[in-house]
Parts: sequence; C-alpha cells; structure tokens
Amino acid sequence: MLTNKETAPLPSAPSRFVDGCGRTIRYLRLSVTDRCDLRCRYCMAERPTFLPKQDILTLEELYRISCLFVSHGIETIRITGGEPLVRKNLMELLRALGGLLDASAHCASLKSLTLTSNGTQLERYAEELFDCGIRRVNVSLDSLDSETFSHLTRGGSLAIVQAGIDAALKAGLQVKINCVALAGTNVCEQEVDRLLSWCGEKGCDLTFIEVMPMGDIGNEKRLDQFYPLTELRRSIAQRWTLEQTAYRSGGPARYTRCAEMGQNIGFISPLTENFCDGCTRVRVTCTGMLYPCLGQESGGDLRELLRAPQRDGMRSDSALSDRIASVITKKTRGHDFVIDGSERAGVSRTMNATGG
Ligand code: SAM
Ligand code: SF4
Repeated sequence: MLTNKETAPLPSAPSRFVDGCGRTIRYLRLSVTDRCDLRCRYCMAERPTFLPKQDILTLEELYRISCLFVSHGIETIRITGGEPLVRKNLMELLRALGGLLDASAHCASLKSLTLTSNGTQLERYAEELFDCGIRRVNVSLDSLDSETFSHLTRGGSLAIVQAGIDAALKAGLQVKINCVALAGTNVCEQEVDRLLSWCGEKGCDLTFIEVMPMGDIGNEKRLDQFYPLTELRRSIAQRWTLEQTAYRSGGPARYTRCAEMGQNIGFISPLTENFCDGCTRVRVTCTGMLYPCLGQESGGDLRELLRAPQRDGMRSDSALSDRIASVITKKTRGHDFVIDGSERAGVSRTMNATGG
C-alpha cells in the first residue's frame, strides 16, 4: 500500500533537468515490469528470462522517482513495460500518480499521465484507468487479421485486444494505435488499408514504428523483420490523402493528417529518418536504470540510491536528483541504431526490459 507519507504533496519546484544539448526534459517513460502476457516476435524471445522480483522497483520506489521527476518539471509520465497492466496492484500507483495531476495542490504538477499497453487487460481496467486521471492510452495492434496477430504475438487473441480497445473508448479514453511495420507480414496494401479504415471508424490516431535493433530475440532476424517507413509512407500516399499537420507529441514521431480517416498517422522511423533533435524524453526501467536515450547503452542506476540506508530515518532526495541530473547531461543528440547484415543489436537490452 502507498502510505500518506509516500503520497504527500510535492515540495516547491527545484530546477528543471536539462541535457547536454540544452533540451529541457519534460517527459518520463516509466517501466513498471519487464513481464508480459504476449511474446511479440520483434520484442522478445519465445522463452525470455524475466528479471528476479527483488530487482524490480516497488510501487513506493516507482512513486518516489515519479514525484522527484515531477518536482523537476516533468510534465508527462507514460507508464509502460513489459505489459504494465500485468503488474500487481498497479492501480494503487496510478491512483497516487493521478493525484499529481491536480495543479492547485502542488507547486509543480503533472500535466498528463498516460499508459502504453498491449490491450489484453484493458477490458478489465479501462474504467479504473479513467478514474485514476488517465485520458489517453496507446495500444499496440500490429494486425487486424486474427491469424497474423496470433503469429506475431505468439498466441495472442485479436478479439480480446479489440474488446479492450472498445472498453477503453467506452470509458472515455482516447486511444492511439501503435503498429510496428514488419516486412512480409503486415505491410501489404490489404493489411495497411484495413488498419487505416478501422482506426478511422474508431476515431483512433495510428502510429507506425520501424523495428529497432534492441536485444536478443532468439531465432528471429532483425534484417528479415525490418521494413523502411519511408517506403510505407510512399505506398500509403498513393491510395490515401496525406495532409500536413502541425501536430507533435514531443517525441521522434512525425505526423500527417489522413483526410479519409479524419485522424493523424504518425511515423517513428529511427532507421530511415532520424527525428531525435527535439526529443525531451527519458526512460526509467523497472529496475531503476535511467536511460536518457532509447538507442544508447549509457545510463545510470537510481535503485542503489533509492535503497541506500537513510540518515536518521530521514529521506533525502538530493543525491537522487543529482544523479538524475548528471545522467541526463549525457543525453546525446541522437541514437546509434543500425540494422545491417551483421545482425548486431543496436543496444543489448530488449524493448520490454527498457520500457518501450
Ligand atoms: N506491452 C506494451 C505494448 O506492447 O504496447 C508496452 C510495452 S512495449 C515494449 C512498447 C512499444 O514498443 C510497443 O508499441 C511495441 O510494439 C514496441 N516495440 C517493442 N519492441 C520493439 C522493437 N524492437 N522495435 C520497435 N518497436 C518495438
Ligand atoms: Fe509484450 Fe509489448 Fe513486448 Fe509485445 S511489445 S511482447 S506486448 S512488451
């Protein structure tokens, strides 16, 4: 249980975190677990080894880190994983984080609390998520063909995810669909057009993502999976009207408005077009590693300080703040991802362990 002490109002706002390129950090992706009830072929191996439970931050530790970031001007927290909704008692954390959304109660306050999910548990949790103050969720959906979906996720049920998305929309959540473009699987005209039409009918924006070389995914080959989004965008533009839009999400996606859908289509293309310049995001893994960039190995351990003995029973956040600030100054202008014939991974950790 998160106690009153842990959910106390934030202290007055100290300085903001600024990286070595002068960018003020405004967005935290917080991973709450590396575990998942699916096994997407581009994300993890068929039989992954999950982290020992004692290495995973407790809900109290996750909340403390969040408060610290918010007190330093973080405006958006996106909860992710693994699959965040499989984390036991996650709603307790979300309810406490929802309390940071109330600007009147705190000197520094959170503007947006969001979640990325595979959708399998959304039917159960959608209303509670709304109740916690969440208004937008991203849901991963790589195919509307149930066989392809089951193949890509190694056994997932498309019907369950679709029911989850419907429940989220019914609960009042805005849903954005994430789709990883995979060569020879979901990038044919039929699949893509079906997804665009379906998202239009549901009123969901859609973001395509280029597969990134992260970690060991067993027998799957990155080079076989990779499909350039420059190509996908060209192909979509031949059949759909893509209009310019000023819409931005503070990350590496570039958006276009699709006239027929009446929705935005985003493209995250780290390999073919690098849009890292304006990135103001950092990530904290479920073990408390802070990574200033998804595509770099360098990071800093926060768990060691979170679990360090406290002097006179008093909690001091200054050492933690100093470490965060120092790691963030090392945020580079862009990532180091490459997918080439050598099959080397851009970074050694998988996406589920990093918090995608
Ligand atoms: N389980 C949740 C989900 O699937 O939405 C949240 C975590 S998942 C790691 C976050 C996002 O990362 C998903 O949209 C997923 O498709 C994407 N992803 C995972 N591995 C990836 C990879 N190697 N390259 C690109 N995107 C990846
Ligand atoms: Fe699980 Fe999300 Fe990774 Fe798929 S992409 S295996 S749903 S963590």
